[in-house]
Amino acid sequence: MVVYTSWIHKKLYKMTDIFNATVLCDNCNTKTKKILIEKDGCRLRALRCPKCDKTYFHPEDKQKLDQFSKLKNKSYQVKLRMVGNSYTISIPREIISYQDDIQKKLNKMLFLALEEPEKLSIFFKKRRFFD
Ligand SMILES: [Zn+2]
Repeated sequence: MVVYTSWIHKKLYKMTDIFNATVLCDNCNTKTKKILIEKDGCRLRALRCPKCDKTYFHPEDKQKLDQFSKLKNKSYQVKLRMVGNSYTISIPREIISYQDDIQKKLNKMLFLALEEPEKLSIFFKKRRFFD
């Protein structure tokens, strides 16, 4: 695909616009269709050729998935500290910085749930069971 390399250089801002434009498959010249692909719990924007099934991932989303794959299943040891009547833990910076939108919402809420007797989960987005 011709526009792919220019996506990488223009990154973030221009990229979305180009992704919304009509893109032809470089394999068979057929008009590609916008789709969403779920991988490892990440939603990736992609273009797929209906004729030969060739898939072009949105470079920004692909990059996020690669970053996520590096962090996935990595475990950390963090200290529990008492602050007033609550306990605090430190979340390693690399976990927060892998996703821009989480960083933007950083001073907002995180959601906790004791999912199992020995498992405390932290969610960046509100889940149904918090309603
Ligand atoms: Zn094709």
